[in-house]
Amino acid sequence: MAEASGEVASIAAVARLKTAAAGLRRLFGAALDLALPRLCAACREPVAGPGLCPRCWSKLSFITRPYCERLGIPFVYDPGPGILSMQAIAEPPAYHRARAAVRFDEISRALVHALKYGDRLDLAPMMGRWAAHAGCEILAEADALIPVPLHWRRLWTRRFNQSAMLAAAVSAQCGLPVAAGALKRVKATAQQVGLSRTERAANVQGAFRVPADGKHAVVGRRLVLVDDVLTSGATVEGCARALLRAGAANVDVLVFARVADPVQTSI
Ligand SMILES: [Zn+2]
Repeated sequence: MAEASGEVASIAAVARLKTAAAGLRRLFGAALDLALPRLCAACREPVAGPGLCPRCWSKLSFITRPYCERLGIPFVYDPGPGILSMQAIAEPPAYHRARAAVRFDEISRALVHALKYGDRLDLAPMMGRWAAHAGCEILAEADALIPVPLHWRRLWTRRFNQSAMLAAAVSAQCGLPVAAGALKRVKATAQQVGLSRTERAANVQGAFRVPADGKHAVVGRRLVLVDDVLTSGATVEGCARALLRAGAANVDVLVFARVADPVQTSI
């Protein structure tokens, strides 16, 4: 009897502890919200949800057709289906097609920087969702996603790879696996910022390689490279060359934002 009542008492004690813990959690959560109000990634105004305030959101420039089917850069006017840009014909990239969610401008740059340098990992699902929407056609034909890799030293200092975060978010949308480790950055390249187009290409020359244990994820497969920003395209070009050299059947590119000055058509 004493044992039974002891058991009841301990159950009651556990219940009280659980209630107290739930209360603490609520209190702690409220305190966290007070201490860290969600801020718009661009203008730093408090916002209700993650990401951007309505004013900054409305300033984002989503990329929609008509665009060059190869490079994904918007056309000034609609030339009709399947037309390529002069740029794609004059200097065809190693990759097959590139798609981007938004133009790289003041607002999207703020999102990219917040994810990359501000530890705003909470932005990745939203940015990945937009990228997955923009790339739905190339994703439907692909076997796997490959994030543009960081050199291990940069990964060590930054602690995470923003492209891998975006690839995981895209994967959550489309269900494609992420072939992490299938591509390695074997050369610690200088930051591409501030370099000319030619310097950027030279900077990533020989920087990427498919390791022996990554070959099985590449040979004969249709792959989508995932990165946060496409500027000159030198980085994804270097990655695509390495993947194709290792036997990939196709390489497309999906980024969150791209530099996209409207281009002329080939006609
Ligand atoms: Zn804002």
